[in-house]
Amino acid sequence: MDLRFPLFNNPPQREDKGKDIPVHSLPCVGCGKDVHPENRSSVPRSEINHVGWDWAVAGIISGGYGSRYDTVGFAICICDECIDRAMSEKKLVKVYEGLNRGFSFDQPIEATD
Ligand SMILES: [Zn+2]
Repeated sequence: MDLRFPLFNNPPQREDKGKDIPVHSLPCVGCGKDVHPENRSSVPRSEINHVGWDWAVAGIISGGYGSRYDTVGFAICICDECIDRAMSEKKLVKVYEGLNRGFSFDQPIEATD
């Protein structure tokens, strides 16, 4: 069996192809607790990246060439506590701040440019 391309040797079940499956919760990748969409009972899978999650970040990531998971998409979620710990342990890299350049509810919004 070619482990380099398991996708081709063992295709995933595709019963859900074309369906926008509702997602009721996702497990935090750090601590495993269930995280739910904010103020909603579920979200369509296609909206995971576009809605708020209760004190967590959730999104879809996908594998690229070089990974045996090339072309596979994953829903991933990490709660705020685990984000803090992962960043302090240098296991998670923040690549940018928010749209307001790091807006915080604890600080006044500063004018930009
Ligand atoms: Zn967590």
